[in-house]
Amino acid sequence: MKTQMQSITTIVTNAGQLITMHLPGHLGPRRGGEMAELGIIKNGAIALAGGRIVAIDQTTKLLKKIKPAKNTKIIDANGKLVTPGLVDPHCHPVFGGNRANEFEMRLAGKDYLEIATAGGGIKSTVKATRKASPQQLYENGKKAVDKMLAGGTTTIEGKSGYGLNTLSEVKILKALEQIGKDSPATIVQTFLGAHEIPEEYANRPDDYVALVCGEMIPTVASQGLAEFCDIFCEKGVFSPKQTRVVLQTAQAFGLKLKIHADQLHSTGGAELAAEFGAVSADHLDCVAHEGIHLMKKAGVIAVLLPGSVLVLDLKKRAPARQMIEYGLPVAIGTDFNPGSSPIQSMPLTMSLACVMFKMTPAESLCAATINAAYAIDRGDKYGSLAPGKMGDLVIWDAEDYREIPYWVGHNLVSTVIKSGKQVTL
Ligand SMILES: [Zn+2]
Repeated sequence: MKTQMQSITTIVTNAGQLITMHLPGHLGPRRGGEMAELGIIKNGAIALAGGRIVAIDQTTKLLKKIKPAKNTKIIDANGKLVTPGLVDPHCHPVFGGNRANEFEMRLAGKDYLEIATAGGGIKSTVKATRKASPQQLYENGKKAVDKMLAGGTTTIEGKSGYGLNTLSEVKILKALEQIGKDSPATIVQTFLGAHEIPEEYANRPDDYVALVCGEMIPTVASQGLAEFCDIFCEKGVFSPKQTRVVLQTAQAFGLKLKIHADQLHSTGGAELAAEFGAVSADHLDCVAHEGIHLMKKAGVIAVLLPGSVLVLDLKKRAPARQMIEYGLPVAIGTDFNPGSSPIQSMPLTMSLACVMFKMTPAESLCAATINAAYAIDRGDKYGSLAPGKMGDLVIWDAEDYREIPYWVGHNLVSTVIKSGKQVTL
């Protein structure tokens, strides 16, 4: 048999619930009722070779087909839950400093303007990031990625966006690139130079857009430092008109697109994502129904970020139920960043998606695995367990998938396997 010819490096056996997230014959992200189909194998096993999955079945059946070699590592899951490695499709893991002082000010009732006047807000992170050495940024980011991996996240999208000049944006993306090389985790890089208008361009935002388009995007694209380009389309930040210019330029330079869309106001970000064929539109707490409709038609994935809704104590929440029932594929991410979401945990994000966005535990797992993988254009490799896909999986100190969002704030991860290798946590 063909599978016996390959040198099997690892076999995980006796998974009480082996969640494959695999729907035979199904390609693309999950919509509607498909989001609750987990492809569960009871008492499952999975065989890995060369970093990939070669077989997956019930333990007794798999062991009849696959004979372990002398050096095959057998991991007995002992009835525990096994899932695909989680995918975080939206985070900002490289920055200088932190904003704990601002957190306290906000709790004391200070508003955005008072915080900004006191030197807080995104501008303080930009200042600290510009000042930080490449090594400092690398160390901060690596620490975050290590924690994410320990929490079961094996693939991470990481954005720039705290440099806001060419030199510092490149510095962030290079730090991310090095973290991706050194960490077992897969890092997918996104350029977010249009995250905010920097102080020095406060009175001439169009000149900053010109810098992003004329210098930053060409530099980032020519050095291969990002696969995606993202922009914060929001009232008082980048207008739909400016967003259009940035997206057109990014597209011309071969970058795939993402948009921070309709987070605080309904500004037409979702509609723009559909018009430009963006891979995802993210946040969407204030999205209009027309935006949902157009995103579905254009095949744009909704990436919802409940962590930032929680931390900013926002009243408007993305209409996740409406999106799922309408057939829009939904993914979730941590939005890890020093201001609105100092959250690194995808399991916690699943809890928040259930409690705040009324998603079911099964939908939250789908949104954190296969749909999240499609939201960063990696659905062919990650997010589900099937022969040919990468051997990224998590063994949990739990028996049932519903426990992941249920044990709010716990880290139930027992073992992480990335590209077929057990990760030392
Ligand atoms: Zn974000």
